[in-house]
This record gives sequence, C-alpha cells and structure tokens, in this order.
Amino acid sequence: MSAYSFIHHYHDVLVIGAGGAGLRASVAASELNHSVACLSKVPSTRSHTVAAQGGINAALGNRGHDDWHWHMYDTIKGSDWLGDQDAIALMCERAPEAVIELEKMGMPFTRDENGRIYQRAYGGQKTEYGKGDTAYRACAVADRTGHSLLHTLYAQALRQKVEFYIEYTALDLLMDEHNICRGVAAWCMETGELHIFHAHTTILATGGFGQVYASTTASTICTGDGNAMCLRAGLPLQDMEFIQFHPTGLYGSGVLITEGARGEGAILKNAKGERFMERYSPASKELASRDIIARAMMQEIMEGRGCGPKADYLHLCMEHLSPDIIKYKLPAISSIARTFTGLDITKDPIPVLPAVHYTMGGIPCNRNSQVVTLDSKQQEKLVCGLMAIGEASCTSVHGANRLGCNALLELVVFGKMAGETAARAVAPDATHPKISDMTLEPVITRFDSLRNRQGTTRPNQIRKALQQAMLENANIFRSGDILAVGQRKLRSLWDAMQQDLHVSDHSMIWNNDLLDALETDNLLRQATVMAASALERRESRGAHWRNDYPMRNDEEWLKHSVGFVDDLGNVRMQYRPVRLSGQETETLAPISFPPEVRAT
Ligand SMILES: Cc1cc2nc3c(=O)[nH]c(=O)nc-3n(C[C@H](O)[C@H](O)[C@H](O)COP(=O)(O)OP(=O)(O)OC[C@H]3O[C@@H](n4cnc5c(N)ncnc54)[C@H](O)[C@@H]3O)c2cc1C
Repeated sequence: MSAYSFIHHYHDVLVIGAGGAGLRASVAASELNHSVACLSKVPSTRSHTVAAQGGINAALGNRGHDDWHWHMYDTIKGSDWLGDQDAIALMCERAPEAVIELEKMGMPFTRDENGRIYQRAYGGQKTEYGKGDTAYRACAVADRTGHSLLHTLYAQALRQKVEFYIEYTALDLLMDEHNICRGVAAWCMETGELHIFHAHTTILATGGFGQVYASTTASTICTGDGNAMCLRAGLPLQDMEFIQFHPTGLYGSGVLITEGARGEGAILKNAKGERFMERYSPASKELASRDIIARAMMQEIMEGRGCGPKADYLHLCMEHLSPDIIKYKLPAISSIARTFTGLDITKDPIPVLPAVHYTMGGIPCNRNSQVVTLDSKQQEKLVCGLMAIGEASCTSVHGANRLGCNALLELVVFGKMAGETAARAVAPDATHPKISDMTLEPVITRFDSLRNRQGTTRPNQIRKALQQAMLENANIFRSGDILAVGQRKLRSLWDAMQQDLHVSDHSMIWNNDLLDALETDNLLRQATVMAASALERRESRGAHWRNDYPMRNDEEWLKHSVGFVDDLGNVRMQYRPVRLSGQETETLAPISFPPEVRAT
C-alpha cells in the first residue's frame, strides 16, 4: 500500500454513477444545499441510459382513462408476484408527478394533437386491473427517450453545481469496523492517481450487469461494478437469477429494436409467415410480457419455424405501418436497422432474436433505497451510509420480470427520493470520521495484486469465456443439469482468475487491460451468485424458466433469493419474504394484490 499516495475529497453525498439514477439523485441532494460528488467511469451522457428508446411509464391518462392502481397491478402481475408491493405502490403513485417534473426541467416529450405528452402502448399493460383495454402509458420522446432524459438531467446537474469526477473508476467501498460505509476508493484513468472519497452517504447508481452474457443490448460498460463492490464488502445480492431477455434484439449484433415498435403496431412472424403470438398469447399477442414472448420465439426456432438459412431468427414486420409513424415515432430504429443490416423497415422485415436486456436482481434495498443485508438469523439489517438506486438496485419493483418503461421510471422516482434522504440525513458540511488503514488496506492490496498478475490468461479471454458460459448454461430455458455444468465452467474461470491471470500493462494511466481485469472480476462474482440462485430456485417464475420445474410454486418459492459469495467463489444462499402489500401515501390505506395465476 505504501507504493501508492492518495488524494482525498470530502462530500456530504457521494453518488457513484452518472446515468439517469445517479443524476436524479445528485440533482435532488444538491437542491438541498449539500455538497455532492458524482463519479462516472465514462462521461455522463454516455451512460447506458442514453440508449433507452421506448419510453417511461406514468398513468397520465392522456390517451384514454388511466389510473396508477392499474399500473401497480400490471407491474405486480408482470413481476410474477415477486415484486415488493410497498415499493411498487410508491413508484406507480409518484409516476405522474415524476414525469411532469421532467417535462418542467425541459425534457422534449413527443406531443399528441392536443399538445399533451404523447403516450404509447407497451407490453403487459392494460386498464381495469388487467381486464380492460390496452393502456397507453409509456411517455415517449420518439424512440430516443433515454437520450432526452439523460441530457435533461445532466443540464440540471450542471445548473445545481454537482461536482463531477469523470473517467474515475470506483474500486471498492470503504466500510469501517462497524460496517458503516464511509465512501469509496477510486482510480482516475486520466492521471493514474488514486483518490479517496469521504462521504456521509454513498449512493450506488452503477447500472446493471448485462455484460455477463455474450449477446446483450447492454453497453460494454454495464459490468455491475457497484454490485460486485457490495459482494466484496460481504453484502449480498438479491434475485440474481432473474435476467430479462428482450424479444427483439437485432439478429447478429443484439442491438435493441424497441418494444415501442410493437406498441405502434409491429408484428412478429415465423418462416411460414404466421403471426405466431396469436397462438401463445391470443389476447395480448405482441404486447404480452417480455418473458412470454421471448420463450415463444425460442419455441418457434426450436420447432424449426425460424427464418433464414439456419432457421435461427424471426421477423419483426413494420411494412404495414404508416410512413409517418416510422418517421416521427420510430426514427432511431429505422436508422439502426439501416446501419446494421442495410434494410429499409418500411419495406423489409427485420431479423430479430431475444437478447439479454435487463438485470432484475441487484443490491437489496428497502423502498427508501437504503441497502439491507441479512444477519445469521435471516433478519433484515440496514447497512448504514449506503444506498442503491437504478438498475444496480433490487428495490424490488420488477420482481421476476420487468415491464417495459418501468426502468426509467424507477430511476427518477427512487433517484429523487434517495438524493433527498441522503441529504436530510446529515447537516451540510458535517465533519468526516477518519478512514483507517484497516479499511483501506484490503482495497488497495487487491488493486495492486490484479495490476501485477503475471500468469498467461488475458482478462478478456476470461471475460469472453464467462459470457459464453452464461449464454450456453443460463439461457432462456434452464434446467438443473445445464446450470450445474455452467457452475463447473465458472469454477474453472475462478481458478484462471486467481492463478493464471496476466495483466500486461502495469502503468496507472489509461490502463485498459487493468480496467478489463477489474470488470471481469466483477462479472465473475455476479455470475457465480446468479448461477447458484438459478440452480437453487426449483420453480419457473417470470424470466426464470426451469424445464425441470415448469410451474410457479408459491408455497416454497414466493421469496427473494439473497446470495453472498466469498473471495474464493463459495456462495451462501439465504431468503427473505416478499412484501405483499403497500399503502397509499395520503390516506395510508393499505393496498395489496395477492398472488394470482399469471395467465397471458
Ligand atoms: C438498449 C436499451 C434500451 C432501453 N430502453 C428502455 C426504455 O425505453 N424504457 C425503460 O424504462 N428502460 C429502458 N431500458 C432500461 C434502462 O435504460 C436502464 O435500466 C437504465 O437506464 C439504467 O440506468 P442507471 O442510471 O441505473 O445506470 P446506467 O445508465 O447504466 O449508468 C451507470 C453509471 O454508473 C457508472 N459506473 C459504473 N461502474 C462504475 C465504476 N466502477 N466507477 C464509476 N462509475 C461507474 C457509469 O459510468 C454510468 O454513469 C433500456 C435498456 C437498454 C440497454
């Protein structure tokens, strides 16, 4: 450790991540006059939020009557009853206000003919508690909603004088001897210096870990660093087995074709030209939940009705849509299809295949975004000084399967609340306790050890093997045998990581090889918890489908998986109950949707 020197920073609130969640929290905390630092390993507007296309849900009712209670019901049903209903109630109730706030900040929403925010249909959403017509709930900026949201929030953050530390990679949490989080250690890529950020509250907003798979719509930076930092601090991750495959990834590249296209009327066809979703989900067809459509597509391919020379993809057809819809509502996907496949969506069907899209699991927290862990008696315990928001967190508003357009909503609702809660927990500029060597030493020793590994296997070889293993062994259809083979592959990757890693560049400035090693280590830890959680969960629920246990089993499995992993790759599983009721904010009236059969 003595070989390194440190630059110290002191802030009231420290936000790790400058995507939609991190920016919303930073803005909220700064508005309360606290000093806020926001760290990001890439410039803020390159965070994955920028890629979000389709929209953000809120029961505004601009296109037919809507009600947040219906939104709540759809979210719970979509979650296959694994979502925590107290958090879901809060999110859906606050959604209209959160979207109007974005509008007032200057987010340029697409408008309807009356000048109101344009709303489109999205999968799994209906009126009248699932019994009515399609709900038009997704507020959109054409098909570039995330781009607009991120730029709007970034402008607000600059206005509020949030202090940005860009191209800083957070390495690990600094937990003191009482297990209170005191900040993080970070590495500045540009200068090569190490920094210690002292904070009264650290908010993790580091995004998802889609990069654990070979075919994903998630950016290469989505390596779940905050999740892995929690694991190394002895904290668990929750519901890691639930990985969302988006039905329409572009065949070959996995680039996303938004569900908004189906919301505007696009349909799916197999090689025989059949609109096969009519068989799997007669009522909702292409607007069924994502898990249901992704499985239907794989079933079509497995039964030989896939398209193309290898019969391994399906067609998304938009030729029947009016050119105006494509021009004004779907310009980005029209350009994506042209760039990646040379096809013109007004004339040609697009080849699509399900691709990993969203990670429902993450850092367990309560509805106030405070991180929780479980003690040896399976009792919930708050982790002081630490919060989590956005895709990194498992609050859990998505349960076993997320509804489209609820992720951006989660970012802004919980991001705002977390920023306010963190700021209110401490007086501005309160003094910081010293961070002891005992806290810092293991963090720096690990960094130094990775930097100096002299084996023969490059980090990228391990990362690629890991992504392939997850694709082969923890895909849409799973079984105990296949998952167990996956676990053995992961074990050999742990061995490679520990005994044979080779980092060729030992410098500190823009050392991409070392960054790759750090991220690969992060991915491997998360994949390990994921595989164990998936193997243990002997039922099918939401995105987790087991061929050997094809039914949902509420009696045994209506509970959250909570997994810990040690530095040798050994996993310990515990469980916590699902919260099956919430309340209305004003009246405190209880509100609850008990489990039902999830018919399509
Ligand atoms: C292609 C695509 C389209 C989508 N479309 C929609 C949609 O239409 N509607 C919807 O609701 N959802 C959509 N989603 C999901 C949604 O966009 C994401 O869940 C959400 O944007 C995640 O936001 P976030 O703020 O949690 O994380 P991100 O936006 O991923 O940001 C993470 C931040 O953490 C930083 N970071 C990570 N690790 C470190 C580290 N070690 N040190 C420092 N900084 C770090 C990154 O630099 C980044 O700033 C889509 C997702 C994808 C992939």
